[in-house]
Amino acid sequence: MITLPDLPYPTNGLEPHISARTLEFHHGKHHKTYVDTANKLLAGTSLAGKSHEEIIRTTAGDSSKTAIFNNAAQAWNHAFYWQCLKPRGGGRPTGEVARLIDDAFGGFDKFVEGLKNAGTTQFGSGWAWLVASGNRLEILKTPNAESPLHHNKTPLLTVDVWEHAYYLDYQNRRADYLAAVIDKLINWEFVNANLAKAREEEAVFTA
Ligand code: MN
Repeated sequence: MITLPDLPYPTNGLEPHISARTLEFHHGKHHKTYVDTANKLLAGTSLAGKSHEEIIRTTAGDSSKTAIFNNAAQAWNHAFYWQCLKPRGGGRPTGEVARLIDDAFGGFDKFVEGLKNAGTTQFGSGWAWLVASGNRLEILKTPNAESPLHHNKTPLLTVDVWEHAYYLDYQNRRADYLAAVIDKLINWEFVNANLAKAREEEAVFTA
């Protein structure tokens, strides 16, 4: 059973950068539909009792299970994305992730450039990510529902670049949406918590 988590802030909590109307549709319609569809497809199958992450890893690349993968992975990606944002977030990170970003990309500004570039060059729908891969931080883009989870990489941060994430507020200006998320909304405490958890559970950055 995959669940629809509540948003961690009110629907108007990310205004003026992401409107309540966008969040009402994005969480209440798009995300909910991925969750409901995944649960319908999973009902009565051997996957039904598995964890959300296991369902994604098991169905990735299996052409007989594309619909389950797409809906389950989209449900996971969205639940993760909501937590990556917060009111009055964004700007420069603090803590461990700040140091690792400097090491990996040669400074915060280079990281911002890389994440914006990943988001704007993802052709069509998809996601831009900061991930831990072994002892490295990487910026990635993935198409559609694809997730770093089934590529043995640990998601630390994501930005949804599907049109439904920004079209009501920014129309075709995906770069402006990305800039607003990075400058005003990223929840760096969540990113640092993901890094700490990855260190504990997946033995990344142990050197
Ligand atoms: Mn979305």
